[in-house]
Amino acid sequence: MEYVHTTYRIDQKEYPEYYSALLARSSLGLRKFFVGVRSTGIFCRPECSARKPGFDRCIFFLNVQDSMLEGFRPCKRCTPLHPLACSNLLASILRYIEEGLSTGNLLAEGLLSQKGYEIANEEFKNAHGISLLRYLRVRDVGRICAGVYRFEHLPRSSRAWCMAPPSGTESEILQASAALLSTPIGTMIAIATSEHLYFLEYIDRPYLGKRIKYLQKKYALGIRSHTSAILEQAHGELNAYFEGRLTRFTIPIRQVGTTFQNGVWGYLLGVSWGETRNYSDVAYDLFGQNVCRAVGTANGMNGIAIVVPCHRMIRKDGSLGGYGGGVERKAWLLNHELVGRKE
Ligand SMILES: [Zn+2]
Repeated sequence: MEYVHTTYRIDQKEYPEYYSALLARSSLGLRKFFVGVRSTGIFCRPECSARKPGFDRCIFFLNVQDSMLEGFRPCKRCTPLHPLACSNLLASILRYIEEGLSTGNLLAEGLLSQKGYEIANEEFKNAHGISLLRYLRVRDVGRICAGVYRFEHLPRSSRAWCMAPPSGTESEILQASAALLSTPIGTMIAIATSEHLYFLEYIDRPYLGKRIKYLQKKYALGIRSHTSAILEQAHGELNAYFEGRLTRFTIPIRQVGTTFQNGVWGYLLGVSWGETRNYSDVAYDLFGQNVCRAVGTANGMNGIAIVVPCHRMIRKDGSLGGYGGGVERKAWLLNHELVGRKE
């Protein structure tokens, strides 16, 4: 199998180079990039005329999507969401969106025609690689992540709700905490109570907001932005996994699904580092019949990525099949487990 390594973010080792480019207000032959400023929560193009932040306050990103997912808001001065030579049409749509309207609102209220929407959407996609609709979703996830504790870079220790519990369950709220974890294949969000890890997912995976809301409702979780012993353990074990020093997670997890889902997730926990199983063998092993599509669906519903190793499930013909975090990450993880063991 041939695996491709995709770069998801700028390596911290390269930060000095990007910081020099930032001070020179130019990309200096580097890839196109953006800078998030931790003290203000704003992200800029390198060319921005605003005063440059200190080195320690910068996080560098390769695209607007990642900048926004991590909770940074676009700078009003250098407007990083506007393509260079932005059309008036797109500029006005972006302004409406900043004021809180969705593209659906704009269409419904006649502020935008379907044709105009398609033209502006194409312009935005060409500049940023994502549609206007995806941009709205990314912004919603960013609003969650902006309030979440992060281990790297000046940790914030705020204990405010970052996701208040669903209404009507105040007496039965389960207190949880959330944190962002940096990994070589992108930032992940972890959610845990004082006893178990409940959730670990890539922040750019589709429907992240929906999945977190579902989780909150199911377990009546109120989520605060701070760390906890379980999150510290998740952070430590995940780092060790990516460094090739840990092949079996010991962190306590809790994930309750249907009998079928529980069967598949339990099975996955028995698949060791570097091994793979295919959907149809699992279907026969577990259920004695050809229900591989249902096995694939249950696999995809796993909410504790990597720890419950749904990336180790592939197709019978050896092709990778799907992965919630994107098939490139699945390939990266399988390759890491083939060559990356450092024990
Ligand atoms: Zn700016």
